[in-house]
Amino acid sequence: MNLIFLGAPGAGKGTQAEIVCDKLGIPAISTGNMLREAVKNGTPAGLAAKERMDKGDLVPDDIVIGILKDRIAQDDCKNGFILDGFPRTVEQAEALEKMGVKIDKVIEISVPDEKIIARLSGRRVCEGCGASYHMEYKPTKTEGICDSCGAKVVQRVDDKPETVLSRLETYREKTAPLKGYYENKGMLKTVIGQDEIADTSKLTLAAIEG
Ligand code: ADP
Ligand code: ZN
Repeated sequence: MNLIFLGAPGAGKGTQAEIVCDKLGIPAISTGNMLREAVKNGTPAGLAAKERMDKGDLVPDDIVIGILKDRIAQDDCKNGFILDGFPRTVEQAEALEKMGVKIDKVIEISVPDEKIIARLSGRRVCEGCGASYHMEYKPTKTEGICDSCGAKVVQRVDDKPETVLSRLETYREKTAPLKGYYENKGMLKTVIGQDEIADTSKLTLAAIEG
């Protein structure tokens, strides 16, 4: 099963992808996490991406497409995968088709803007493994320390309030058109993001199975 999770920054794509991938036994692939990893390691892709990511702008299609292509060619993707944060432009969606990747379903997680802003301000991520947390909705067991790998949990530079607004704008302009794109292909399922993570998971799994 090849799935795409679509939604504004902070809608909960990553959180749901982590939960659903465990249930389905397929990897969740987050281009955001891969890019942050590339930045941390100072790879050429990371160097090219850093400034744009910090500002909340999209990284150029060719860089992201290259990273994604290498990742889905790996062995663990044979039985399927969840794409979290890719495609983010119509050009990226077309590139996926050109690679011959067949997508079974596109799950859009929809959350109103007011809630998004509150969520992003409380979001924290693990520097080590990329796991995501929230000060209020999904706190770590020990303050500031990742439950799964023990590394430090920090706020992303692009989760600062000034950057959040420009990320929402970028989403509306560049990524939201993908809803119509996949709806026309009869692939889109919309899930309304709930306040409780577990409630959204139930709806998400139902949308995948239904
Ligand atoms: P969020 O969904 O919360 O915005 P991500 O972790 O998915 O966060 O992405 C963080 C940043 O990484 C984006 O703002 C963008 O700069 C870059 N990025 C991630 N995925 C893509 C993509 N598919 N195309 C272009 N840029 C991307
Ligand atoms: Zn971790």
